[in-house]
Amino acid sequence: MMQCIVVHYMANIVCSVTNCYFNKREGCTAPALNVEGEKAEESRFTCCDTFIEQKPGVRSSVHEPKADTHIQCKAVKCTYNDSEICGASRIVVNGKNAQHPEETCCSTFKD
Ligand code: SF4
Repeated sequence: MMQCIVVHYMANIVCSVTNCYFNKREGCTAPALNVEGEKAEESRFTCCDTFIEQKPGVRSSVHEPKADTHIQCKAVKCTYNDSEICGASRIVVNGKNAQHPEETCCSTFKD
């Protein structure tokens, strides 16, 4: 009988982008993450595409940070990338005061 083994990668996200709608106490409340950086050879060329700038006066996400977020990632040159899915158990996202996704990055990127 054929067995099908599906690996589900999940990661804890530590994020310094505290002005993101999904950020709570430097944790991430997004249901899933999209990281860009198709040609990235360094972390600064990656970015968190899930970032949404928190506008003043608008309520931020009501959810709690997750420790098991699924991360879809285009940075295929990263050691942790497995068929465009992040296999790291913990990632660090940086980009204090970002206004656009391009101003954030995945600092865990490793070539
Ligand atoms: S650690 Fe690597 S694979 Fe995971 S999100 Fe960051 S850049 Fe993508």
